[in-house]
Amino acid sequence: MKRLFIVFLLIGSLALPLPSLYGQRRPAKNAAVTTATLATQRGADVITAAQMRSFLYFIASDEMEGRDTPSRGLDTTAKFIAMNLGRWGFKPAGDNGTCFQRIALRRDRVDAAQTRVELNGQTLTAGEDYLPSATASHISGQLVFAGNGWFIKAKDIDAYKDIDAKGKIAVVFSSPMGFPRGLRRADLTGKQGEDWMNAAEYARKQGVVGIVYVPDFQFLANWDRNRQRIMERGTTIPEKFQAQGPGQLPSITASPKLANALFQGEKQNATALFEAAYGGGSMPSPFALNPDKKLSLNVAAKTETIGTQNIVAVWEGGDPVLKDEYVALGAHYDHVGIGNPVNGDSIYNGADDDGSGTTALLAMAEALSHTTPRPKRSVLFVWHCGEEKGLWGSRYFTDNPTIPLDHIVAQINIDMIGRSKKDGDTNPRNKDLSGPNEVYVIGSTMMSTELGDLTLATNKSFLNLNFDLRYDDPKDPNRFFFRSDHYNYARKGIPIIFFFDGVHEDYHQPGDSPDKIDYQKMEKVTRTVYMTLWEVANRSVRPKVDKPLPAQLAGN
Ligand SMILES: [Zn+2]
Repeated sequence: MKRLFIVFLLIGSLALPLPSLYGQRRPAKNAAVTTATLATQRGADVITAAQMRSFLYFIASDEMEGRDTPSRGLDTTAKFIAMNLGRWGFKPAGDNGTCFQRIALRRDRVDAAQTRVELNGQTLTAGEDYLPSATASHISGQLVFAGNGWFIKAKDIDAYKDIDAKGKIAVVFSSPMGFPRGLRRADLTGKQGEDWMNAAEYARKQGVVGIVYVPDFQFLANWDRNRQRIMERGTTIPEKFQAQGPGQLPSITASPKLANALFQGEKQNATALFEAAYGGGSMPSPFALNPDKKLSLNVAAKTETIGTQNIVAVWEGGDPVLKDEYVALGAHYDHVGIGNPVNGDSIYNGADDDGSGTTALLAMAEALSHTTPRPKRSVLFVWHCGEEKGLWGSRYFTDNPTIPLDHIVAQINIDMIGRSKKDGDTNPRNKDLSGPNEVYVIGSTMMSTELGDLTLATNKSFLNLNFDLRYDDPKDPNRFFFRSDHYNYARKGIPIIFFFDGVHEDYHQPGDSPDKIDYQKMEKVTRTVYMTLWEVANRSVRPKVDKPLPAQLAGN
């Protein structure tokens, strides 16, 4: 009797955040039936593997060209999403009565005709001898060799140890934006700018006036593609993000021919240094090059304004008061575009990343549009752009919201839910990929105990997928919490839930294609998210934020 009483108490406490599911106190064996009926009433059956397959085969098709930000493929995908939202009767919530929230981008490109780089007075050829970054510059100076250019306290790496590089041009053996050999993101512990600095940051700190990057084999093997990327496409960034941070240091990327010329007659030649940096030897100490050698960079750049967009739409709630509050759903519809070919394929389709989340949101939108009565709260859909560039779209939306941010009661982010680990898969790159009935759930408990409990209880009473919570930890070395759009909502105090299938062999590869997706899994996860969305939307009070974002997650 006593024991039973305790059990009832536990059920009672679970019932609090979930009145619609548990309020009826049915016997346990009927609970699943009840939830299934409820799911049908709410339109969850509209979400199907077949429907998502047809959406995703469009979104992740080669014609979308990998959906880089900005690109024609991304714009076409945006039109496809908006066209469907229009058909389903969604309320546009972007700019000027459209579903598009426009983001102005500034693009800087090299003006090759006006650019001149000289070594000891001898003019070098742009595109052949070097690739100039699109930073207008007029500098010249003596040269220092500075290892890989990085500072990483925990690894005892200090590229400028015991050398004065002030006012000089540093030659570093690393690829621009690349990581030094043998290091991973997880090795960068502590605070950026203090405990670690990349080559550009550390050079600036040392008073260096310009950088010559000597890139690795992979960069050299794709020299032509890199030339196109750096010289023709240039660098692009949202105009509103411009003011922050110092400008770029002038830099060029050297061909092997130029690297040889730079180290001619020095105590270590370019081949030896290349071997040390990329082969496996240890990196020699920094040294000043012959003071008679002088490099000058006169780089001209052209600037233009182009655009991209988030897609924003609202499904209005049915309750006259609660409809002013929103449950936000998010995914990123961009990917990394066209890149280095692998087995002859250069289109990075991004079917899982994040075609799957993009599709899941479309499927949920279609389901809502078929369902009466409506959920009590409104549902805000945001398809973000530029996630792969550094969470651009979500940062832009949360800094320039088109609805009041404090009316968002929770944000649910879906980034990769389409892949599953097959039985007998021993590929180490699929080690952490979740199985067909599994998904990683991250962040749901970090700010709101109620939201975390609701997420688990909804799943238990419905499809009972295996929710793997191992990354739901502020100390997660993978830092998944920072690595997708939900982060920008959490930063603004909005509790979030992040659904994710885990890293796999095709992550950021041309092989992330729609034929490799487990559509049954996508259906299960999307229906589960959909039911979670309804539970949050129909609660009488919004999920309470009872803890601040953990300190490890608040910074960055
Ligand atoms: Zn992603």
